[in-house]
Amino acid sequence: MTLGTGCAVSVPPRLMPGAAPLASLPRDLKVRVAGRIVNVAFEDYVAGSAISEVSPTGESTATIDRVLDVQTIVARTYALAHLGRHRADGFDVCDSTHCQLYEPARMGTSRFAPDVRRAIARTAGAVLTYGGRPIDAVFHADCGGHTASSDQVWGTPTLPYLPSEPDRVPALIHRSWVVTLTREQVRVALNAEARSAVGRTLTSIEARQTDDSDRISRVQVSGDRRVDLNGDDFRTLLNKSLGPKGLPSTRFRIQSNRTGFVMTGTGFGHGVGLCQLGAMARARRNAPVSAILASYFPGAVLTTPGGRIP
Ligand SMILES: [Zn+2]
Ligand SMILES: [Zn+2]
Repeated sequence: MTLGTGCAVSVPPRLMPGAAPLASLPRDLKVRVAGRIVNVAFEDYVAGSAISEVSPTGESTATIDRVLDVQTIVARTYALAHLGRHRADGFDVCDSTHCQLYEPARMGTSRFAPDVRRAIARTAGAVLTYGGRPIDAVFHADCGGHTASSDQVWGTPTLPYLPSEPDRVPALIHRSWVVTLTREQVRVALNAEARSAVGRTLTSIEARQTDDSDRISRVQVSGDRRVDLNGDDFRTLLNKSLGPKGLPSTRFRIQSNRTGFVMTGTGFGHGVGLCQLGAMARARRNAPVSAILASYFPGAVLTTPGGRIP
């Protein structure tokens, strides 16, 4: 199967206190797609986002159904919690990983389009809530074996349904990687922004702190200037310049060599919320949709605006 880029959020999500209590789902929302602001029926947006974020190639029909049920519920919840995120610019959500990927053309071209439409019908209106409000249903491609809590990754207040926990699925499904970067690649990426600029040289990258999930949460980079960075900021900065696979996650170890740095790690994406690889592994083992969601958003309640789903 192919996963999205570990989407939803390369910057701290808007927190739940900002989301309205769940009364009803909106009929439509304003999406900025390829630079244009368009009105999209809410469930069409959910379908377009779900199909952009997951492509369950090679899976059984039952697994495809469960995975798409999970992704449509997550996409719907995320959209609901983040309505008006771009209000200042005249729309609700953008089509990039800043919000959720949304490539509506895929509903016309993907072989999974009919499966997504059936998942939309099966999960009609279902969202995850906590305290009666839609949760911040963030997700990522691969947790590497342990999810991360939102406060440890983004420094935002603790959310009980986004804890740091081992992902109890066979470890082999999580992927490991080795990335070799030259000193120059990293220096250019850091110099792209004033707050992380090191100047004309880069001498070292040091992990100063790791969190409960074994992710690097503080990094110190030293060159002409010495700068302390949040670990996920460091990943985001590198990926802006090198692409999403520049530094796949912050769950890694650094070694320096003559020309640069060797990063050895696991996982892909920020690690908070639902792990798409883990969800897929659970779906293959016939775990019910509600159990898959409960594994990654403990304490969240699956409901529809009309009431609780059985
Ligand atoms: Zn956005
Ligand atoms: Zn995982």
